[in-house]
Amino acid sequence: MAWLRREDLEDAELRSLHALAAQSRNHGGRRLDEPDDALRTAFQRDRDRVMHSAPFRRLQGKTQVFAAFEGDYYRTRMAHSLEVSQMARGVARALRLNVDLAETVALAHDLGHPPFGHVGEEALHELLEGRGGFRHNAQGSRIVDLLEDRYGGDVGLNLTLLTRRSLLKGSVPDGFPLAPDLLPRQPAPLEAHVVDGCDKIAYLCHDLDDGLRAGVFALEACRGLALWRRAEVAATTHRHPRVISEMISILVHDLVEASAEELEAWPHDGRQPQIRHSGDMQVLANELLVFLRERFYRSARVLEVMHAGQDRIRNVFAHYLAHPEEMSDRFRSRIGRDGLHRSVCDYVSGMTDRFLLRQVT
Ligand code: MG
Repeated sequence: MAWLRREDLEDAELRSLHALAAQSRNHGGRRLDEPDDALRTAFQRDRDRVMHSAPFRRLQGKTQVFAAFEGDYYRTRMAHSLEVSQMARGVARALRLNVDLAETVALAHDLGHPPFGHVGEEALHELLEGRGGFRHNAQGSRIVDLLEDRYGGDVGLNLTLLTRRSLLKGSVPDGFPLAPDLLPRQPAPLEAHVVDGCDKIAYLCHDLDDGLRAGVFALEACRGLALWRRAEVAATTHRHPRVISEMISILVHDLVEASAEELEAWPHDGRQPQIRHSGDMQVLANELLVFLRERFYRSARVLEVMHAGQDRIRNVFAHYLAHPEEMSDRFRSRIGRDGLHRSVCDYVSGMTDRFLLRQVT
């Protein structure tokens, strides 16, 4: 046979991946039974479904730190998700984990973020108090499991169980309405932990890059960071994009090396391997996080836009609560099942920053 069939790809996974890697043959099933694809593994198919979905396209209009309309240079959640996916593929490959699952989870990991990033998340969580709350990972699950109704019958994009569990990783507010077969706090595959590690590397380095470009803090301030100084030596230049790319390399290599040690020690040392940084690198990464919090995330310029966005979310939410008939059909039709507050939350959280600001209330 001249072409690679799905079975050949599955056999290759069995031969080449680590014993703890997710095997696409053992994907855990889909809620609606479908025949297998002739060319793609189950995870490759999940990835394609995520990439061809409308919420994935809307990531282009959602804020990472700066409002998406502030300039063409700064990162949107779409750019961020693509960067995380590229890193996660590299790390998964190096650790002999499932590259396709890591890619799928990375592309989908921010689908549930509302407009205006974390402040938007806080606002919606307050508005849904006593009604299951709001959190972006749980909302991501709702989107792929319920709201993107491709098949009818409430199976969403009909993704595999392992992909769905990976996306739910992290805390879920009490009473948040997930698909009925999905339980919070179930263990997620190692590939989901790889995405977590890469998400952190991506936002630390890219937020530093965006903050510098925007002039929120100066290059000189970055030199106070031990990780920056180390990257500057490796980069052999002071040009900031080169230094940032060295920082990413240092963090990615450390993640691979420290995690590989864990995977090698298994099963002899009797504990589950972790995807993690070395102790030294955790200290350096934390120093960078504290810097970004103080100098960037809580800077007057960023907070001003974010707080305005938060107010806007509250107003738009109140408007649709009073006028649910103005919501699009898809969301209005779920009110009977999910209740008015949850349906308004689904509608508002799915908006891009720009669409939210254009709402006449
Ligand atoms: Mg992210």
